[in-house]
Amino acid sequence: MSKALYELTIHEALEGMRRKEFSAVELTRSLLERIEQVEDQVKAYLTVTADLALEQAAAADTRRRAGEEAPLLGIPMGIKDVLCTAGVRTTCGSRILENFIPPYTATAVQRLLDAGMVLLGKTNTDEFAMGSSTENSAYFPTRNPWALDRVPGGSSGGSAAAVAAQEAMAALGTDTGGSVRLPASYCGVVGLKPSYGRVSRYGLVAYGSSLDQIGVLAKDVRDAALVLTVMAGHDPHDSTSMPAPTPDYRAALTGDVRGLRIGLPEEYFIVGVQPEVEAAVRRAIDALVDLGAEVRPVSLPNTDQALPVYYLVATAEASANLARFDGVRYGYSAGADSILENYRLSRGRGFGAEVKRRIMLGTYALSAGYYDAYYLKAQQVRTLIKQDFERAFEQVDVIASPVAPTTAFRLGEKTDDPLAMYLSDVFTITLNLAGMCGVSVPCGFDRQGLPIGLQIMGPHLGEEIVLRVAHAYEQATDWRRRQAPLSIEA
Ligand code: GLN
Repeated sequence: MSKALYELTIHEALEGMRRKEFSAVELTRSLLERIEQVEDQVKAYLTVTADLALEQAAAADTRRRAGEEAPLLGIPMGIKDVLCTAGVRTTCGSRILENFIPPYTATAVQRLLDAGMVLLGKTNTDEFAMGSSTENSAYFPTRNPWALDRVPGGSSGGSAAAVAAQEAMAALGTDTGGSVRLPASYCGVVGLKPSYGRVSRYGLVAYGSSLDQIGVLAKDVRDAALVLTVMAGHDPHDSTSMPAPTPDYRAALTGDVRGLRIGLPEEYFIVGVQPEVEAAVRRAIDALVDLGAEVRPVSLPNTDQALPVYYLVATAEASANLARFDGVRYGYSAGADSILENYRLSRGRGFGAEVKRRIMLGTYALSAGYYDAYYLKAQQVRTLIKQDFERAFEQVDVIASPVAPTTAFRLGEKTDDPLAMYLSDVFTITLNLAGMCGVSVPCGFDRQGLPIGLQIMGPHLGEEIVLRVAHAYEQATDWRRRQAPLSIEA
């Protein structure tokens, strides 16, 4: 029984191309055909760059024939549409950038291209990455490949759905408060959020600059480790990118977790978590214990402050970052006669409701007279949250928890209730506030057949240990072999 090419993992595809069983052009064609077959149902892409992909695939075949072996040579991937791609429209899921063609490429994307990646297209996102369901995209919502009436999670919902629907071999997302891990868990794929500073943010359209980090959505942990290895490392264009050397993260995937200490935070196993989610996560932890890991209770006492702190810091930073979209330099311009009227109309028409809400919240939190009470206070509590994690990581190597309180919810279910939407982030935003790293790995399904994710959190620059644990668990289970039940249109 042979698999279709689009079904392969990156590692399987690299091996197949090395053995000359198929070319990068054939692999890319297979993915493009798959996109044609299922994209009407899933709607993962805002832009498909079919011609460019075939050109890049042909170039990859030429490089391979010349004896070159780059780490992603001929591998077709999707890129979240908040990452700049020179010559390819980058909308951020917003009307205000509907026709924006960046003059340069984000460092993370450029590193993948240099390593031979083939760009399939730009994936759907909540507008400026603000959201948890991809319903805040100004264009259309993406659907969950496991149940088309459900959301894929967000904000990197297009990237997660593309990987789950096998419309990309892997994809880049961004994670400001969970936007890689949450859609990964809802779509049953692996989602890796690196530590703050591990990957350059140059060319990522900024949302919350002290929280944003580029991450990977992949079919398995090994593929995620490979993509991170290629894109991580210092970049002179981003002074917050860490100078720490980049290991080959695949070397960390030993399968051995004996003696490793896993912390279980009581604050993450609380009332309100869907019982099937809690049960699946607890079973996953038992499986790690069977593999030789030890479990210890840990406490992260300031967890209940995380949501208000996050939504103050993120909106404050967003209000500053989005000031540049004023109808003058970038994107949509209403073309009004007076400058003030032009600002008002360009921003009024260009931004959607959630983005406006965030700008107003953030501007308020930063304004004179409220700054100390809100923004400054939030920064102080953020430090306490970080210290909770630092103390916990003195006792344990990783911390395990659910990724989200529930499995994927229905489209439209939370669109009228921003607070209910924000609550989906309660277990993921803490890591961004602390600047640490984490991964979501599939750990089961609920009774309705919707995927559940296990979150493994690690300290700053702890990617190796986090990937090692996730990989050992993944290899001991069979969840990655299940595929979303999409019907193929003839
Ligand atoms: N849902 C969170 C928000 O709306 C996180 C989004 C993200 O990580 N980009 O801010």
